[in-house]
Amino acid sequence: MLKVLKFGGTSVGDLEKIQNVANIIKKEKDKNYDLVVVVSAMSGVTNKLSSYAKHFSKDSSSKEVDMLLSAGERISSSLLALALNEQGYASISMSGREAGILTDCHYTRAKIQSIDTKNISKALKSGQIIIVAGFQGYTKEGRVSTLGRGGSDLSAVALAGALNASICEIYTDVDGIYTSDPRIEPRARKLEKISYEEMLELSSLGAKVLQTRSVEMAKKFDVNIISRSSFAPEIEGTLITKEGNIMEKALVSGIALDKNQVRIGLYGVSDKPGIAALIFSDLAKSQVNVDMIVQTVAVNGKTSLDFTVPIEDLEKTQNIMLRFKKDIQKVDYNEKICKLSVVGLGMKTNSGVASKAFETLAKENINIRIISTSEIKISMIIEEKYAELGVRALHEAYHLDKTCKSF
Ligand code: ADP
Ligand code: ASP
Ligand code: MG
Repeated sequence: MLKVLKFGGTSVGDLEKIQNVANIIKKEKDKNYDLVVVVSAMSGVTNKLSSYAKHFSKDSSSKEVDMLLSAGERISSSLLALALNEQGYASISMSGREAGILTDCHYTRAKIQSIDTKNISKALKSGQIIIVAGFQGYTKEGRVSTLGRGGSDLSAVALAGALNASICEIYTDVDGIYTSDPRIEPRARKLEKISYEEMLELSSLGAKVLQTRSVEMAKKFDVNIISRSSFAPEIEGTLITKEGNIMEKALVSGIALDKNQVRIGLYGVSDKPGIAALIFSDLAKSQVNVDMIVQTVAVNGKTSLDFTVPIEDLEKTQNIMLRFKKDIQKVDYNEKICKLSVVGLGMKTNSGVASKAFETLAKENINIRIISTSEIKISMIIEEKYAELGVRALHEAYHLDKTCKSF
């Protein structure tokens, strides 16, 4: 049986930790599993490489940046293979290209187009453990590409799908998916299972424990993921699976926090048809990821618009807003905000979840600036200084520290 295992940056953070990972792999191999292992760069390395690139160039999406960034995963994968070989476990490291991961040409945020598993299958047949450098592939131009931050999760899930692996185990520094980030809410409870849909919302709303695109991929190809800890591998992790595999649907399964957003307020916007369309289509053309949008009722032919974008898109957004000087009286940018979200499949069929969130924040005197809802989530923009308080208050309001999910 084939397993794909993935180890994140902190799990391979130094040589001792790489040995710890080698020990986990050896135990799995001793159980007779065929193993494809995906590794991230040692923690901090990708950030460091990225800062080196910025020293010389403002162009953060060039082919050279990808060549540079992909080096981090080459280091950790080859070190791990060296360790395993030395300890009697035949292993081979592979770059994304050797692993057959073909991507499109959007350097630094490339999408996987196909995976040719020929090299991996051949090495597996000869009994070797494959160590794949995560986060990277190659393009039809023959250059190295990277898959966006956190992309090793995506490499692992995509390989698990392409190889039809029995499971994709993602090892990190926490022992599963919690009802909220356990580093913010110590009373957060570990979930035994969570659906792809809920995990998608949690990830995209700020829980970086799994990269959002990797969860999308898992859902698409029906790859079961286990999130678990490389520092406590004996503890069972959390299964991320399809909704149908989950008997007891939680009303609320988690609270996510995203501090990486900026709120943009546009005031005195001419209230004529097509203005919003122009603004947002220009933002979309520049690949700015606009999230929440609210428009207020027009007074005297003027209206205001509020929306949020990720911090890394702020500069681009500011430049685009300059084009609309004639139609907007004032623009302000507020980085001191955050997005708090409540996620749960049970919301589909239960009313009162949203009002509970609003009441809870009101009790703490936390003002909500923007609200958006979907079938299974409620997101609220609040002042950043209330971020942790908000997470804890909501966690308590929905009794998430207890297994009983009624409120
Ligand atoms: P890796 O380096 O292994 O890829 P990450 O740092 O990307 O690990 O993700 C793990 C971190 O995700 C944890 O340390 C934890 O602080 C954070 N996290 C955020 N939300 C959650 C959550 N709901 N459950 C578990 N961990 C979470
Ligand atoms: N090393 C890359 C990053 O830090 C990819 C990953 O760790 O998943 O984003
Ligand atoms: Mg990660």
